[in-house]
Amino acid sequence: MVVLVTGASGQLGQSLQFIAPNYPEITFHFFNSSELNITDLENCETIFAQIQPDFCINAAAYTAVDKAESEPEKAHSINVTGAQNLAKACKENNTVLLHISTDFVFDGNATKPYKEDDLPNPTGVYGQTKLDGERAIQEIWEKHFIIRTSWVYSQFGNNFMKTMLRLGSERASLSVVNDQIGTPTNAVDLAKVLIKISSSCHAVPKLRDVSASHYGIYNFSNEGQCSWYDFAKKIFEIHKIEIDLQPIPTSSYLTPAKRPSFSVLDKSKIKEVYGMEIKGWAESLETHNIF
Ligand code: NDP
Repeated sequence: MVVLVTGASGQLGQSLQFIAPNYPEITFHFFNSSELNITDLENCETIFAQIQPDFCINAAAYTAVDKAESEPEKAHSINVTGAQNLAKACKENNTVLLHISTDFVFDGNATKPYKEDDLPNPTGVYGQTKLDGERAIQEIWEKHFIIRTSWVYSQFGNNFMKTMLRLGSERASLSVVNDQIGTPTNAVDLAKVLIKISSSCHAVPKLRDVSASHYGIYNFSNEGQCSWYDFAKKIFEIHKIEIDLQPIPTSSYLTPAKRPSFSVLDKSKIKEVYGMEIKGWAESLETHNIF
């Protein structure tokens, strides 16, 4: 089983590299943005022709949520044209595409966890480009899994957990919003799920047929829900950092891009189809760098 991973230097890409040695039966090929630029179709086609992957995990994306508001063309090029190019290359090579999307495709006005078929309504450029990327893939290539996730953190790259740990070592007090509700996702848990989906699809050749497959959109995050304030509190508790942590409303922390106030994802579908158990967000946070 041959798996090509794009965006290998990002936090999901590095988390996949971190756990890859635990799957000796899989041949992984990791490409960072300078080795495989997903906005360049020719580059994608050349690499795919060389590797002939069974699966492509697209961990490449434009993820700067606020910056996207002032550079929509760049966000579109990576999140839409990039997704489109990979779907084309996958189709040419009969490669199953696993693409990662986001809770930001929703507007956050729901009062219960979002299901895969709830109506998306992004409120910013990042969410819109991620939704357009999903749609581009759906139009081009049926053999795809689109995994929507939320609040991803890891020991790698830039993320909320690492920012809190840095601020916790620099400051005596900190204010964090407590009226945006979602679920943190340990990038290693997400990486394992991507491998599980690929492996089960590969194990039964028939499952790779479109008619018999489980292709489509899935939600995945850890279990439970919390505010960013709760998440920060738990991070400081686990790392025994003493800090005066204050809850504040979103209105006191304005950002260029509007965030959904509620973006908890319903995971019933992925749990049912793949019979998986998902760790609670706090439990997974405590073991965040352990495979
Ligand atoms: P990161 O920002 O950590 O990584 C993204 C990677 O994409 C970077 O390594 C970047 O490389 C690479 N990249 C950017 N442009 C290109 C390009 N043109 N060609 C190839 N690679 C490129 O993202 P995450 O790992 O956090 O996110 C993984 C996925 O999860 C994304 O699809 C994201 O939208 C989704 N997601 C993330 C969430 C989060 O909280 N982080 C929440 C919900 C969904 P370089 O650094 O060289 O530019």
